[in-house]
Amino acid sequence: MSKFYVTTPIYYVNANPHVGHAYTNIICDCISRYKRIKGDEVFFLTGTDEHGEKIKKAADEAGEDVKAFVDRVGQNFKKLWERLNISYDFFIRTTDVFHIKAVQEVIKALYEKGDIYKTTYHGFYCTPCESFWTDTQIKEAGICPLCGRELEKLEEENYFFRLSKYEDWLKDYLKKNPDFIRPKIRYNEVKGFLETQKLSDLCISRPKRRVSWGIDFPIDDNYAVYVWFDALINYISAVGFAVEGKRFNKLWPADIHFIGKDILRHHAVFWPIMLHALGLEPPRIIFAHGWWKMGEDKMSKSKGNIVDPLVLIGEIGVDALRYFLLREIPVGLDGNFSRSVLLHRINSDLANDLGNLVYRTLNMAEKYLEGKITESSPMPEEFKKAFKGLEKNYISCMDKVEFSSALEEIFKFIGAMNKYIEDTKPWILWKEKKIDCLKAFIYSLLEGIRIVSIYLSPFIPETAASIYRQLGIEKELNLNGIKWGISKEFNIKKEKPLFPRIDVD
Ligand SMILES: [Zn+2]
Repeated sequence: MSKFYVTTPIYYVNANPHVGHAYTNIICDCISRYKRIKGDEVFFLTGTDEHGEKIKKAADEAGEDVKAFVDRVGQNFKKLWERLNISYDFFIRTTDVFHIKAVQEVIKALYEKGDIYKTTYHGFYCTPCESFWTDTQIKEAGICPLCGRELEKLEEENYFFRLSKYEDWLKDYLKKNPDFIRPKIRYNEVKGFLETQKLSDLCISRPKRRVSWGIDFPIDDNYAVYVWFDALINYISAVGFAVEGKRFNKLWPADIHFIGKDILRHHAVFWPIMLHALGLEPPRIIFAHGWWKMGEDKMSKSKGNIVDPLVLIGEIGVDALRYFLLREIPVGLDGNFSRSVLLHRINSDLANDLGNLVYRTLNMAEKYLEGKITESSPMPEEFKKAFKGLEKNYISCMDKVEFSSALEEIFKFIGAMNKYIEDTKPWILWKEKKIDCLKAFIYSLLEGIRIVSIYLSPFIPETAASIYRQLGIEKELNLNGIKWGISKEFNIKKEKPLFPRIDVD
């Protein structure tokens, strides 16, 4: 059994979650469930990022105490994860006491090492972004390159972390580990950035008169910790850094950090250097997924084009949403969120191909064999090609986070089963009283459906469990069960159709 430690970013709780947040967590949930059915010991971390002026401001605007505000908004994330069947193992909040302690330990250790120093900063500052900018980073005079707002000219003392000292180490690390950042386009982006710009040291403190809601800077009471520096440390604080050595050594390094491509630099430049300076290994893989766009725009609160995942789940169901997001685009590319594409996808794949296959087969089992099948049969020739393809490609697709391709393989097999029904014409077998042929035919479909539900379980877990229930199987869904013929009997308990067709009009 090997360990698998996977993380989502921690979400900034200045607003409620949208489909973009849901997407990241569904990706992590899918890979976690896959690793679990494979027999790995999974630790799946998600959580919330709760410090910084933006949150203080959002709390002020809502007329709430800031802690009460983060408690309330954080709950909305938890509620959504519950609705989406996100099987996380731990939910970290950056206001957790153990996390605060870990952040302070990190700063003390780096300060003692000489990697943190105090100096006067001259330059520009964007308050909403809480970011410092140098002349070379600013494209348009006086304007924040990130948010386009007006910059403030600033001269103040702050603490800096020596990113520049480790620039060559990072370049070298990237060269030796071409799979560290995925997909390739993001690896090249980071490499290109490091080749064209010299890394400047990172300002990691904020004077408390400007940023009041943050972790106390442990070596100077006048400062709070920069929110990004605080947030990144969650990945180690959650697994026991500086507190539980044994647990930490078992779980670190993380196997995959899933992130949105907009926070690539924080994760692929700042974070590995922070870890290296602490004498820790970098995560094994940083995987940046794309964005769901509405037309040409990224979904965002400020653009007001957010799709509320709870409303969607109410309309189409949780598994249909999960399926669409994982099937429609490869993880790593951008997708266009379109209602008509969504409904078409659900109707054709889930209602027609999968839903009908299950419903028809269970119906036949009840009608022709009274819902009880007690003899196994070898795999029909008609299944072999698609089944082999699935067996061969599923694991490699899943291990490479190629979820969409894995689903394609599964649906090829579903297609082969549907074709088998059409070609065999079971109603004629029934008419001609060929009961033995009918038994073998129905067994093959039920066994195929059972195996498919194991393969589908990381993607649409509720549906997979429902299929198992309807087949009368009590065993756990796991990859040991994909062997043909291990079912000795089925006792059908048919429920309502899995995915009713949605009226597109
Ligand atoms: Zn800005």
